[in-house]
Amino acid sequence: MSLKRILSVSLLLLVVNLFTGGFCMAKEALNKKEASIAKISSYTAAGDIESLEKELNTGLDNGLTVNEIKEVLVQLYAYCGFPRSLNGLSAFMKVTEERKDKNDKTGDEGKILPAGTDKFAYGDRVQVELTGDHVKGKLFEFAPAIDQYLKEHLFADIFARGVLTNKEREIATISALASMQGTDSQLNSHIQMGKNTGLKDDEIAEILEIASVPKLNEMFKKGAPNTAYAKYFTGQSYLNPLTTEGVKISNVTFEPGCRNNWHIHHKGGQILIVTQGRGYYQEWGKPAQELHPGDVVNIPAEVKHWHGAAPDIWFSHLAIEVPSDGGTTEWLEEVSNKDYEQLK
Ligand code: MN
Repeated sequence: MSLKRILSVSLLLLVVNLFTGGFCMAKEALNKKEASIAKISSYTAAGDIESLEKELNTGLDNGLTVNEIKEVLVQLYAYCGFPRSLNGLSAFMKVTEERKDKNDKTGDEGKILPAGTDKFAYGDRVQVELTGDHVKGKLFEFAPAIDQYLKEHLFADIFARGVLTNKEREIATISALASMQGTDSQLNSHIQMGKNTGLKDDEIAEILEIASVPKLNEMFKKGAPNTAYAKYFTGQSYLNPLTTEGVKISNVTFEPGCRNNWHIHHKGGQILIVTQGRGYYQEWGKPAQELHPGDVVNIPAEVKHWHGAAPDIWFSHLAIEVPSDGGTTEWLEEVSNKDYEQLK
């Protein structure tokens, strides 16, 4: 190959790398195995078995061993209960039977602590390693049994098994906790513990995004890509019309970073009921308002506004059209990147 040709090929590769690297970086902080651990945990915690089966296949294709996946599913019983863990293991058993001739790697077996180990002291050491301090508090004086089980069982029996690194175990835990409702306090603790195992902010952002992907068992389905209104949206949205008679109600889902243009509902106005994820609503000339599941927004007629997802999280709301005589929607300019990028 001539020097000139080598140079031009190198330059082409550099340009391709710069383009794809820059384009995907925000979503690819985790390696493929870690991303699969986060997805497997999220679907297991949410009980979305159909999606879990697909991801178990992808995880094995991505190089996770059979025992690493078993270990993720076993550990999850400590965070989302035996029912979710057993359903996940049952799905995995089916997948391994279907892939018998694929020669998937079995991997290392989990270890058992030697008889006579002081498990309470062992678990305490692991907790200190993960949290940076001895875990104590009123709750553990109120119910000492839970402190005993956390230390002797979760942080000794389970963590001592090896197979996964502590960082991989925290990826599984953060993803599972972020996929359930009402576990914010534990999620925040585990984000900190994850950082202590070496997880970086962009890796945590990717886990939270994975956990926020809509699940098949959610009350309102995501619906089809919202192609009819795509020209009034930045990013991909999905529309599921729930009823078109009397009062029109649709479930609208926004991928991370997706939002609609500034617009005005003439005559009728609109009501939003947030069902999933985290997003924003903003009226012209006012600060953007952060939205969470259960929030209700009354949008009066004739008010210029937009709504959409936060940058790293999927977001869904019901959109209810307030009935009116001859109501219309006037679509205006896009929300500028400059304005949107100020939002977290
Ligand atoms: Mn609107």
